[in-house]
Amino acid sequence: MEIKENPKEYDVIIVGSGAGGGMATKILSEAGLSIALVEAGPYYDPANPEQMTQMKWPYESPRRGGSTTRPFGDFDQAYGGWDIEGEPYSQVGDTDFRWFRSRMLGGRTNHWGRISLRFGPNDFKKKSIDGLGEDWPISYDDIKPYYDKVDKLIGVFGTNENLPNDPDGFFLPPPKPRLHELFYTKAARKSNVKVIPSRLSVLTKRINKDRGVCFYCNQCARSCMAYADFSSGSVLIFPAQKSGGQIDMYVNSMVRTVTTNSEGKATGVSFINKEDEKEYKLKGKVVVLAASACSSARILLNSKSKQHPNGLGNSSDLVGKYLHDSTGGDMMAFIPELIDRKTYNEDGVGGMHVYSPWWLDNKNLDFARGYHIEVWGGLGAPSYGTGFNVNSFNKFFGLNKAGGYGNVLRSDMKKYYGSTIGLSGRGESIAQKTNYCEIDPKKVDKFGVPVLRFNYKWTENEIKQAKHMQDTFEEVIHNMNAIPMWNKPGKESNYGINKPGLIIHEVGTTRMGNDPKNSVVNQYEQLHDVPNVFVVDAGPFVSQADKNPTWTIMALAWRSSEYIIDQLKKQNI
Ligand SMILES: Cc1cc2nc3c(=O)[nH]c(=O)nc-3n(C[C@H](O)[C@H](O)[C@H](O)COP(=O)(O)OP(=O)(O)OC[C@H]3O[C@@H](n4cnc5c(N)ncnc54)[C@H](O)[C@@H]3O)c2cc1C
Ligand code: SF4
Repeated sequence: MEIKENPKEYDVIIVGSGAGGGMATKILSEAGLSIALVEAGPYYDPANPEQMTQMKWPYESPRRGGSTTRPFGDFDQAYGGWDIEGEPYSQVGDTDFRWFRSRMLGGRTNHWGRISLRFGPNDFKKKSIDGLGEDWPISYDDIKPYYDKVDKLIGVFGTNENLPNDPDGFFLPPPKPRLHELFYTKAARKSNVKVIPSRLSVLTKRINKDRGVCFYCNQCARSCMAYADFSSGSVLIFPAQKSGGQIDMYVNSMVRTVTTNSEGKATGVSFINKEDEKEYKLKGKVVVLAASACSSARILLNSKSKQHPNGLGNSSDLVGKYLHDSTGGDMMAFIPELIDRKTYNEDGVGGMHVYSPWWLDNKNLDFARGYHIEVWGGLGAPSYGTGFNVNSFNKFFGLNKAGGYGNVLRSDMKKYYGSTIGLSGRGESIAQKTNYCEIDPKKVDKFGVPVLRFNYKWTENEIKQAKHMQDTFEEVIHNMNAIPMWNKPGKESNYGINKPGLIIHEVGTTRMGNDPKNSVVNQYEQLHDVPNVFVVDAGPFVSQADKNPTWTIMALAWRSSEYIIDQLKKQNI
């Protein structure tokens, strides 16, 4: 097969344009380096009317809301999902790991929840605290200056609370709590569960001329036409282009391997152009992988050569290992006091206005690590279809009528609309070597590239944590005088813990460390084995914290990009 080679040699090739790739693109291009940004999905701009779904009415959805092409509904800005046609993955034994991929410029940052949390000082040193997992080779003080810069560059609302392990930052004013959030706050505090304003990367105040301010449409998952929420394209890549960055974008281009020379050094990447299905090669002095934790592991494992027979950067045999996702447990309830509530514009961002950071001391508990509670519900903007089945409410009042249609349905809908509240625990699991992704020796995708196979089991620790989540939800819901929408999950269902992968916080597949035998990258996310290759997604995470990972991905990507600039200047790579 003929492989077309581009004669140009770039300073840096960046694979993937999500959180990590977008940050690397901005920092490296603004330092004057020539960049090839290679992205598996199409070009996407939330302000492009052809692609925009924000402010559309439910009846404009082709299937009135059915999620036939996108998992969270046809207006959600995720081109992809758990399953992508022609791009399968497989499982070992009874593993059921769910792998979410967004194939588009900006990756999953177009529709992510915008919950933007820093890890705290303890999160980098958990092994020293409880003896489990591993410590990071860096501390909070190493990353703090980059969190600060990310806060200021991107914008995040919240409040400084002086909490020991949920650090303060540079916050824009938070929006005020909505009615259901006030119910939650009162009920949670009654059980001594801490509640504070949430921390989301949504602009509640103007920070520059390129981006607008949130007008509270509640639809961040559709990506903001005013660029008032964080997406990698609108906040990092487009501004970098605007400020003169030399960025050649290769979209619809699926990287197969990192190419190497006879000394084992990286020379660039090979990719398949999805439009003509031909293979191409690009040359670069440095390769930065930011294809997401599992995709980057896949590229490394598929990059076998005489010099790297076990895959690139894999002399430790740890690429793909220590994969871990957040624990997750959920409960939904409705608040009878809010039945028949007045319908009005609640003026909300596309996410929660309050949340509960982890509030307990593990010394008094039967599991390690913690979780935070995310809150959802209330009125919101009109959703798809009817949004809910009225009979799941009617049954609590002995009303067995079927909701019907016309005026009966309408009045039933209005009766319950806005009376629901949802609680989701998102917690820290412990990274296990036995939880991993690897190359399936028998399966390739539609481009002929070997696919990933997952092996993953929750341990007792995570299951006990899920039980604690449900006990907490039960108590708080009781305090609210609310009615749970389904039975409390018990032992038989592992207390409702979500399948691994479902929380979409998968990390750890190229973990960071000082010892090349025990880790894949060093503290600058540089492969121990191949100094001109870096991984700036969530692969290098040693442990996950009970925080959502994206703010940390970007802070680390910024730090690593500065290191790349320094190393190129010194001609070390
Ligand atoms: C519904 C949802 C809600 C979420 N909410 C939150 C939240 O509130 N807070 C939080 O911190 N995190 C959240 N996340 C997770 C967050 O989106 C990810 O942590 C983050 O986007 C990861 O960034 P990344 O750069 O590693 O990968 P991605 O954003 O996934 O970007 C990777 C990019 O690489 C491209 N790519 C993959 N393979 C290849 C290849 N072989 N060749 C070329 N390109 C490739 C992909 O197309 C994609 O564009 C959420 C995710 C989802 C789906
Ligand atoms: S809620 Fe605000 S930031 Fe989110 S999409 Fe609407 S206007 Fe934009």
